[in-house]
Amino acid sequence: MKYISTRGEAPPAPFIETLLAGLAPDGGLYLPQTYPRLSQAAIAGFAGQPYANVAEAIIAPFLADGTETLALREMIAAAYKNFRHPAVTPLTQLDSNLFVLELFHGPTLAFKDLAMQLLAKLIDHVLKAQGERATIIGATSGDTGAAAIEAFAGLKQVDVFILFPHGRVSDVQRRQMTTVEAENIHTIALEGTFDDAQACIKNMFNHKVLRDELNLCGVNSINFARVLFQTVYYFTSAAVLGGPHRDVSFVVPTGNFGDIFAGWIAKRLGLPVDRLVIATNSNDILARTLASGHYAVQTVQPTQSPSMDIQVSSNFERLLFEAHGRDAATLRRLMAGLRQSQGFSIEPGPLQAIRAEFDAVSVTEAETTQEIAQSWREAGYLADPHTAVAISAARRTKMNASASPLVVLGTAHPGKFPDAIERATGIRPDLPGHLAGLFKRKERFSILPNDQNEIERFIRDRATRAAKRTAS
Ligand SMILES: *Cc1c(COP(=O)(O)O)cnc(C)c1O
Repeated sequence: MKYISTRGEAPPAPFIETLLAGLAPDGGLYLPQTYPRLSQAAIAGFAGQPYANVAEAIIAPFLADGTETLALREMIAAAYKNFRHPAVTPLTQLDSNLFVLELFHGPTLAFKDLAMQLLAKLIDHVLKAQGERATIIGATSGDTGAAAIEAFAGLKQVDVFILFPHGRVSDVQRRQMTTVEAENIHTIALEGTFDDAQACIKNMFNHKVLRDELNLCGVNSINFARVLFQTVYYFTSAAVLGGPHRDVSFVVPTGNFGDIFAGWIAKRLGLPVDRLVIATNSNDILARTLASGHYAVQTVQPTQSPSMDIQVSSNFERLLFEAHGRDAATLRRLMAGLRQSQGFSIEPGPLQAIRAEFDAVSVTEAETTQEIAQSWREAGYLADPHTAVAISAARRTKMNASASPLVVLGTAHPGKFPDAIERATGIRPDLPGHLAGLFKRKERFSILPNDQNEIERFIRDRATRAAKRTAS
């Protein structure tokens, strides 16, 4: 299997190259040249199978010319053995025809663990085989950084540098990043915003000398492997609800469009999916885009679901590419428009193609709080604010008895956002046992000014020192 860029100016690349690079060299996002199709019999066979078996069946064809199957099986087993639920991603019923797919039973309590745990093992494996080291850099508003740090801690071939905006992540999120004791993990509190942190990481990737010298590797959700690994739970949950003999709809709390795009891929692979519903908080660029055809960036508003406080949804570029019949020239034009004038318009044809598969619902802060209260009152279910946004959106999409079951993706554990839950229900949720001591552990991080040179110097110093240690 080869991978092509949405901007059409990078040569087709093997899986391993997309895995280590993240972004394509022309600034585009990688997608497979074709989608391997699973037979309905194969999908029906997923019912009752362990998560790891389904994962292997779905992922293996995408790696076809890379890592052998045997190693993949071992890596998948290792990636999911630390999840606190035997089903890995259990399904809970909330109402008639309404279910929550719980994706937060991994080490850092957010759905990012599902992809990151496997990504880390795969990257380490590939680097070992090639006798190379890499430097992972990333900016985070909370969950991605914690998931990456937990997944890569202690691995021999990589150093990890995570930038987060100083004072702008929750205490739980910060402590999850700063209390991990591993020599290869470096956490940086940047004196700036999340956008500053992200700009800094982008600049480093565009700095060719630094990029090659440190073998920079990106693990944010533009990395195709992450999106691919997220398709697995669409299959396992549909199988529980009678798929492929019955269509299922999914409602996804959306920020960067990675998680819901995985649902779109699942459909391309052969899973019968009825609707894909984009649930957004008041950062509603995608809902506005589906309604009007105009993608127009506004300023980010902080909400109680911070992992969705995003205006530029990077993975939406992948859907645009597909909706335009993979016309890379059009994508280059749209993305240039985004750079120059903070927006672009989508032609009626492609807009229609998007609307044929997706709905979008935006949910206000008050509605989110009401939903947390209602789920608790009516179903005894504590939903974190991100999940609550999607439950609220699900209730508003036309539900009736004969419609396909609606599966809401539960993306974070309620214990991660205790203040929002307490405000809505009066109950302060606990953290699961393995994190109970989080507030007693020693924190370790460096505070750096929002200065590109200083950050690069910091990273270069530590990455080269680590490389020398490994070499000797
Ligand atoms: C990252 C995240 C999201 C948004 O997922 P995208 O793939 O960026 O759309 C939603 N909820 C939580 C808790 C997250 O951490």
